[in-house]
Amino acid sequence: MKLDVNVLRYLSKDDFRVLTAVEMGMRNHEIVPAELIDRIASLRHGGTYKVLRNLLKHKLLHHDGSKYDGFRLTYLGYDFLAIKTMVNRGVFSSVGRQIGVGKESDIFEVANEDGTIMAMKLHRLGRTSFRAVKSKRDYLRHRSSFSWLYLSRLAALKEFAFMKALQEHGFPVPNAVDCNRHCVIMSLVQGYPFVQVKQLQNPETVFEKIIGIVVRLAEHGLIHCDFNEFNIMIDDDENITIIDFPQMVSVSHRNAEMYFDRDVECIIKFFSKRFNLSFDANGDDSDSDAESDTVKPRFSSIKKAFGFLDKELSASGFSRKEQDDIEKFTEKIHGSDDDDEEEEEEIKDGEEHDSSKINESDIQNFDSLCSLTKDADNDDVQPEASGNSVAVEEDEQNSERKHEDANNAVEDDESSEEEDDNPELEERLARQRKRAIQAARAGRKTNTSRNSYKDKGGKSAQNSKIQKKQMCSW
Ligand code: ADP
Ligand code: MG
Repeated sequence: MKLDVNVLRYLSKDDFRVLTAVEMGMRNHEIVPAELIDRIASLRHGGTYKVLRNLLKHKLLHHDGSKYDGFRLTYLGYDFLAIKTMVNRGVFSSVGRQIGVGKESDIFEVANEDGTIMAMKLHRLGRTSFRAVKSKRDYLRHRSSFSWLYLSRLAALKEFAFMKALQEHGFPVPNAVDCNRHCVIMSLVQGYPFVQVKQLQNPETVFEKIIGIVVRLAEHGLIHCDFNEFNIMIDDDENITIIDFPQMVSVSHRNAEMYFDRDVECIIKFFSKRFNLSFDANGDDSDSDAESDTVKPRFSSIKKAFGFLDKELSASGFSRKEQDDIEKFTEKIHGSDDDDEEEEEEIKDGEEHDSSKINESDIQNFDSLCSLTKDADNDDVQPEASGNSVAVEEDEQNSERKHEDANNAVEDDESSEEEDDNPELEERLARQRKRAIQAARAGRKTNTSRNSYKDKGGKSAQNSKIQKKQMCSW
């Protein structure tokens, strides 16, 4: 998937309104029927259907007719919602190159008005395991909103909360700047992923630093659970920064010891292979001389602070319940997500880039989103209010103005590409739009949905005010 942020500039306020309506609908629907989107967005004169075509064209929405006819957000659509919110908040104003691509995330450089470059991590939890998630119906049955949207949002929230708490306790982690939906903004680590490093001046010292972090984490009640050369950054002075926290667990987790040992083993293995460091083979056996304890710490001999960071974590909005949800997902899905059949086409093979090579000139390659913020004050590309609140509250007049030509535009043909892609869908959207316009002309509310679609979401679909409230918690 290519994140072409330029598209952002061409998206109107109504586009975002409809995109947000789909997001809201997805709280209760895997696929959101067009009529429901129309009701939530409540654009005049069938505007929703025209906008849907545009969003499909830009691949911000995906049309699905398998179970019943409807739409869902694509990763790209969700990305744009998060990016727009961040831009509106003034967190950053331009997006640069991709600096990392993980199994379940994409990392980009972003820059704020001052030219400070930061890292934006877009979580893609469920990207490689979406099918697996779908197949876990037993687990999902009681959670209609349990979807990749929810999972990615949880992963981002967890990462943000942990990064913040760890930073406050003096751990070498990136500075957690902000978080919205599945997107985390953090400081850019000036260093290399440890996996790229072939030589060290002081391998023993670096090893001790790294193992020291594993131990100190456990003393603070935490285990990283993915502590390896891919999630450790190192700079020219051999300073260490730890990244990637969505899978961390508490030392009270039933598999805590196994996770702890696995983290330690990973580091030992890497150091012995890459830097020829030798370790006491009996380090984890019964000999408890001080030296082998330093080399290979034992979980049982660490004085742990259970639940120590709980308060800090919930202060960032990451509660125990959310922790449980994401842990359940991680345990159920990971390890069985070996299928490469992607739900969507967005998976992109790519090399991780060397983030240490950033210099001033790079900023020139950033796609500036400033115009978006500037337009915000006076144009119809007006973004929603900052924070998690959404565009539904915005003035109706604006969208009316935009769509006063709707009556004559029923037959307009601006997205011929779309028609090539799916003429049937095009026709249907045009028909729905025509009906909505006719209903508007007749001075009555469109109620096609009552006839053609039985809303499963219950109260969700009835009242956009309720939707607004729900949305705030997303
Ligand atoms: P994943 O969860 O997909 O493994 P990571 O958080 O480990 O994602 O990030 C993937 C890669 O992106 C890292 O190996 C690193 O190269 C780069 N990266 C991530 N965060 C930062 C950061 N704050 N600064 C610089 N590079 C980063
Ligand atoms: Mg990683």
